[in-house]
Amino acid sequence: MESDLKLSAQGLVRDYAGRRAVNDIDIRLAGGEVLGLLGPNGAGKTTTLRMLAGTLAPSAGRILLAGHDMARAPRQAKRHLGYLPERPPVYDELTVDEYLAFCARLRGVERAKRGAAIERAKADCGLEDTGKRLIGNLSKGYQQRVGIAQAIVHRPDVLILDEPTAGLDPNQLRGIRELVGRLAESHSVIVSSHILSEIQAVAHRVMILHRGRVVLDEALADADAGNGVIDIGLRAG
Ligand code: ATP
Repeated sequence: MESDLKLSAQGLVRDYAGRRAVNDIDIRLAGGEVLGLLGPNGAGKTTTLRMLAGTLAPSAGRILLAGHDMARAPRQAKRHLGYLPERPPVYDELTVDEYLAFCARLRGVERAKRGAAIERAKADCGLEDTGKRLIGNLSKGYQQRVGIAQAIVHRPDVLILDEPTAGLDPNQLRGIRELVGRLAESHSVIVSSHILSEIQAVAHRVMILHRGRVVLDEALADADAGNGVIDIGLRAG
């Protein structure tokens, strides 16, 4: 294994009731790399990310996180991973601090270090003054920041963000885009979107999915120069 390889997936397949949603996908993510996963609705982005995050079992294929096999050693693998699902569970009745404390505990952050971990995650996500507020009373943009804070509270190397800007208004969207850009400076990231400009803003490499298959996987400078290829990938639907 390359020493710098943070995440690798080989031959990922997922079937739903006999229908193939993801077909033979390989992914390699190096340290410090930001990979944008692009594709129209139904292309298989969420299914792929859920498998990488260990919340959905692949029908076939193998996933390694920092050398740990997701199927055989999920606890060790997940230590290295932070995941923002497409629709994060919202705990309206918890305060931000209560929710982050719960997540820190779930992710194995030692009790004595939890307070500092929560403060750091809040500071990184622009949530400094929200600790005592109920999540249900926050705006959608701030709820999304809480979703991202729970993904980084245990200091993972790899962040998997499923459409982090979906459903936000332009102001909230700008804030989350900036936040993802900042986190990308210190994490290896896989971020999905169906909007090319979102991916271009942060990613080093783009992978386009269409009907469960990879139709393009290139460094973004190259893909950018060949816009036609990206257009084909996005239009096909
Ligand atoms: P979106 O941008 O709309 O979230 P996506 O690229 O993330 O799309 P997926 O949600 O991974 O795509 O869906 C890929 C395919 O798998 C689609 O055809 C979808 O209908 C199907 N699918 C996803 N989840 C399930 C499920 N739980 N049961 C059955 N089919 C599913």
